[in-house]
Amino acid sequence: MKLMAYIGIGSNLDDPVSQVKEALEELDGIPDSVLVSQSSLYASKPMGTADQPDYVNAVAALDTLLSAGELLQALQNIEQRLGRERDGEKWGPRIIDLDLLLYGKKTIKTDTLTVPHPGLHERDFVIIPLAEIAGNLNIPGKGLLSTLIAACENHSVRKLVV
Ligand code: ATP
Ligand code: CA
Ligand code: CA
Repeated sequence: MKLMAYIGIGSNLDDPVSQVKEALEELDGIPDSVLVSQSSLYASKPMGTADQPDYVNAVAALDTLLSAGELLQALQNIEQRLGRERDGEKWGPRIIDLDLLLYGKKTIKTDTLTVPHPGLHERDFVIIPLAEIAGNLNIPGKGLLSTLIAACENHSVRKLVV
């Protein structure tokens, strides 16, 4: 069945603006899927150690026939192609991070996949770009985006002109 999936994109290494743009091109190439919209690019402060560069973030909407598991695999393949290295440090600096934020209205919980993405509702760098392309979406189990944005304490995101 065709579903709208939303993907969160983040980068803070090796020219993050270019990395995010390249990731968007890669998303456009995922089989059985169409990239239907993309947000502006935003700058945000890191969540993990502050001793790392600021992030560039964006959100994309993908109309897809893939299962959620297949889509996660496709996202991880793109991370690999773009040179993501996993050194074990949680929320450490990375060339690219692709998170499956939403998969239609579905709620999924397996060992490798939680949807909606667990941090989504409290991360300004996700919900602000998401609202730009998805309007006042209802996040399963979390409520309306507008309410989540109003409740979000730390609005450190800044829209980039690129
Ligand atoms: P966070 O998930 O808090 O944003 P992160 O993006 O740095 O942190 P990663 O190291 O990229 O975390 O991912 C760790 C694991 O999270 C992946 O191997 C994947 O199996 C799992 N995972 C669970 N749910 C999702 C999801 N919705 N999107 C992407 N990965 C997910
Ligand atoms: Ca992430
Ligand atoms: Ca991730």
